[in-house]
Amino acid sequence: MSLFVQKFGGTSVGSVERIEAVAEKVAGFVENGHDIVVVVSAMSGETNRLIGMANEILEHPTPREMDVLVSTGEQVTIALLCMALHKRKIDAKSYTGGQVKILTDDAHTKARIQQIDSESIHSDLKNNHVVVVAGFQGVDENGNITTLGRGGSDTTAVALAAALEADECQIYTDVDGVYTTDPRVCEKAHRMERITFEEMLEMASLGSKVLQIRSVEFAGKYSVPLRVLSSFKEGPGTLISLEESSDMEQPVISGIAFTRDEAKLTIRGVPDIPGVASKVLGPISDANIEVDVIVQNIAADGTTDITFTVQRGEMAKASQILDNTAQELGAREVLSDDKIAKVSIVGVGMRSHAGVASTMFQALAADNINIQLITTSEIKVSVVIDEKYMELAVRSLHSAFGLDQEQDQE
Ligand code: ASP
Ligand code: MG
Repeated sequence: MSLFVQKFGGTSVGSVERIEAVAEKVAGFVENGHDIVVVVSAMSGETNRLIGMANEILEHPTPREMDVLVSTGEQVTIALLCMALHKRKIDAKSYTGGQVKILTDDAHTKARIQQIDSESIHSDLKNNHVVVVAGFQGVDENGNITTLGRGGSDTTAVALAAALEADECQIYTDVDGVYTTDPRVCEKAHRMERITFEEMLEMASLGSKVLQIRSVEFAGKYSVPLRVLSSFKEGPGTLISLEESSDMEQPVISGIAFTRDEAKLTIRGVPDIPGVASKVLGPISDANIEVDVIVQNIAADGTTDITFTVQRGEMAKASQILDNTAQELGAREVLSDDKIAKVSIVGVGMRSHAGVASTMFQALAADNINIQLITTSEIKVSVVIDEKYMELAVRSLHSAFGLDQEQDQE
């Protein structure tokens, strides 16, 4: 007998019919003797619909009222799911975030969980109740409703699992697990049996949007085993945990991530003296623009070039700031390019294997793909390339690192 926290996302509770299907699934676990806490999102599209109405009235409604509004979506699904469970003769009780006391700070629309009162949930579980909690919401010290940011139900589920010391936090969604890369780009992508928190964080922050990143950080911090599975299809899903797979055949690279969200800026011919990087990047960060890849080159003539990437939407702003800096420093020119993509290989196996990066570069060279920038971390190598070649690069790397799987034995 185990304690599971099970989270069902918007698509999984997108209609009354689907809510009944979730109840059926939960009922199966209850019949097998497990203790179940369910966390649900709003019905798919509902949060957007609510935000849309708010914006018809005001372009910038106050964050406090936004939270009062958008938290209603989840309140609908907790009640309906409990009714569907009652219909199946299962005792179930719904709670809003405020009621279970998911205490957060007061940063409306992006609040952080500070504490959860797990006692009342434990006592409900003791009385054989399924506890159904509204995801995405909490309450601040003063009783104001808060929300955790888009996709925040994942974080609610993980936080509850941590507070309750659950055996596993299961995230039911519309995909059957975490894939080696996006199957829409590479048809030979396949579901991973397991992946570490570290790898998942790299995959997620690089653009594989299966889970809210914060929920993965949270799970890693409190060592909550996380499992991503399909609410529509039976299967083991993907387990995200601390341990690496013990499978000897485990490939060195676990997955290929990619993003088209960035743009590249270069300032050429700045004096190669101490303080120059800070003069170039300081004003960018003062403008609250996040910088990702940074590369500075050595130069023979006493000047240097600095290249960095920012979110694509911020390229124009960054480029303007850089123009000013260029004038101040007497730099030669400023270049910008938003037709780029970043492709990364991710895997904890990299720590103990040599030659990973060179395999990557060879694969790209074989397809005649020019690398513009390279960065590495302990478990990741990223390259920036021309956007045109992104899909080709992903497929080549997927194959070069032995991740291809023929369709379809499942
Ligand atoms: N309903 C919220 C959203 O759409 C939270 C969630 O689904 O996790 O962002
Ligand atoms: Mg979601």
